[in-house]
Amino acid sequence: MIRLTGIHKHFGANHVLRGVDLDVARGAVTALIGPSGSGKSTLLRCFNLLEMPEAGRLELEGLAIDFGIGRPPPKADILAVRRSTGMIFQNFQLFPHRTVVANVMEGLVTVSRWPTEKARARAMELLAKVGMDHKAEDWPATLSGGQQQRVAIARALAASPKLLLCDEPTSALDPALAAEVVEVLRALAREGTTMLMATHDLRLAAQVAQEVVFIEGGGVVERGAPGQVFGAPSDPRTVRFVESLT
Ligand code: ADP
Ligand code: MG
Repeated sequence: MIRLTGIHKHFGANHVLRGVDLDVARGAVTALIGPSGSGKSTLLRCFNLLEMPEAGRLELEGLAIDFGIGRPPPKADILAVRRSTGMIFQNFQLFPHRTVVANVMEGLVTVSRWPTEKARARAMELLAKVGMDHKAEDWPATLSGGQQQRVAIARALAASPKLLLCDEPTSALDPALAAEVVEVLRALAREGTTMLMATHDLRLAAQVAQEVVFIEGGGVVERGAPGQVFGAPSDPRTVRFVESLT
C-alpha cells in the first residue's frame, strides 16, 4: 500500500490540503495535475514527510504513520519514509560542488553508509541507465538542464526507493531537453518503477501515466485513465482546467 488518507495541511490561514485521499498504484505511474497553488508540491512532500501533515495517515509498504494524534511520529518511522522515497525537482537541485558521480553516491555513503567503492559502482550503474555515465567526473554546472535532471533521477534512484516523487520534472526544460527526460522516465515506468508525478505537461502525463489525478480546492476532484481525464472529463472543474492547458 502507498496511500495518504484524510490529509490536512495549512500554511498559516491557508488551508491547502483539506482531507486528501490519494493512493498510488504499485509498479505504475500516477500523474498529479491541478492549477498552480492547488497543493501538488505540498502533497508530494507529504509522501516523503518534507511536509508534516496535521492530520491523516500515511501508509508506505508496511509502514503506517498517523498524524495529529497528540504526539509527533516516531523519528525512526520518519527516517524509514525518507529512505523509502526518492524525489526529483523542477530545478534539479544537484550539489554544485560535487561531481556528477559524487552527487549520485552522496546518499549511499552518508545515509546508507555504503563503502565508497560499492557506492561508486552502484552510481555508475545508475548513470549508465540514464545515459550519463560518460559525464561522471564532470561538474553539474557544465551540463544541460536535461542532463542535470537525468543525473538527479539517478541520484533519486540510488537507494532503490519504493516510490519516486517527481515534482514538475520537465517544466524548467525546453522541449528537446524535456523529451530526453521524458524518455528516461518512460523507461523507468516500463520497468515498473512506482512514481507519483506532479506535472503541467499533458504530453508527459499522457505518455507515462496509467492514472491521472486532478486536485483543486484542497482535494481530489477527479481521477482516471489519461484518455478519460484529458479526453472526457466528467467534473466541470476538470473540464475548465484541461481546457486551460490546451
Ligand atoms: P502547486 O505545487 O500545486 O503549485 P504548492 O503545493 O506549491 O502548489 O502550494 C500550495 C499553496 O500552499 C500555495 O498557496 C502556496 O503559496 C502555499 N505554500 C506552499 N508551501 C508553502 C510554505 N512553505 N509556506 C507557506 N505557504 C506555502
Ligand atoms: Mg508545485
